[in-house]
Amino acid sequence: LLIATGVASILAAALLGWWLAGRAMMPVRHAWQRQREFIADVSHELRTPLTVVQSNLDVALADQDSSIKDNIDWLQNAYSETENMGQLINNLLFIARIDAREIKFNTYDFNLSDLLNQLISRFEPLFQSKNLIFTSAIAPNVIMHSDEVLVRQLVSIFLDNASKYTPAGGTVSLKMCLIQNTIEISVTDSGIGIDDSEQEKIFRRFYRIDKARSRKQGGTGLGLAIAAWIASEHRGQIQVFSKLGEGSTFKVHFPKGTIANIPRTMNYNQQ
Ligand code: ADP
Repeated sequence: LLIATGVASILAAALLGWWLAGRAMMPVRHAWQRQREFIADVSHELRTPLTVVQSNLDVALADQDSSIKDNIDWLQNAYSETENMGQLINNLLFIARIDAREIKFNTYDFNLSDLLNQLISRFEPLFQSKNLIFTSAIAPNVIMHSDEVLVRQLVSIFLDNASKYTPAGGTVSLKMCLIQNTIEISVTDSGIGIDDSEQEKIFRRFYRIDKARSRKQGGTGLGLAIAAWIASEHRGQIQVFSKLGEGSTFKVHFPKGTIANIPRTMNYNQQ
């Protein structure tokens, strides 16, 4: 009986050890799984534009007697695909730096109102070229205490998406105001909108509702994942309000500590 009890307790201890080791390995296994999925996604995302570049160049090279002028469309297609690849690689490098915790916040006081007005000047030609009507309402002289480059990147992602997913003739607006000492920045478009069931998923890496449309517009499927990371690093939050076929609003709130000055001349609850 003594031997049987001893064997049973050894077996129980071994089983417990095996189970505990399995549990301890779970996060590692999940990390491997995520890594594998990420590499598969990256390979796929890079292979697709590369195939487009190759097929366009193949056509351009097929007729040795033709001139560059004859092949301008094929060359143009190949060129814009390489631009998309460049954007994808930039976004991938940024994501890799996020994962490696390599991004250091370079925090200082800067004029957020000026930054947004500069962004507007940069984006206006794009909106014009896409025949979109652009308006803005920016609270004046708001000084933000944060990383200027990351805030610019976040708002650029919203504006870029509004331009990609709003058909010609539509509207886009950018607003910035202070609400109860928090900063609120929003971009509203009258574009294709997002179904309720998709609104959470669009923040996942590589998730696109319509892959073909996103690719055609130069999308990488990484913009909102990066935007969400920037917002959360500021202890901020992104909200989406959208209706399929009617348009979307992407709103980010930066918490109290990010306002370096409270302008006396303005109404804090100004909308
Ligand atoms: P992408 O580079 O594909 O635009 P994002 O991560 O920025 O990647 O966005 C993910 C997906 O969310 C897009 O592919 C698109 O389907 C959807 N989306 C983002 N912004 C908008 C918008 N303003 N209107 C409609 N759909 C949008």
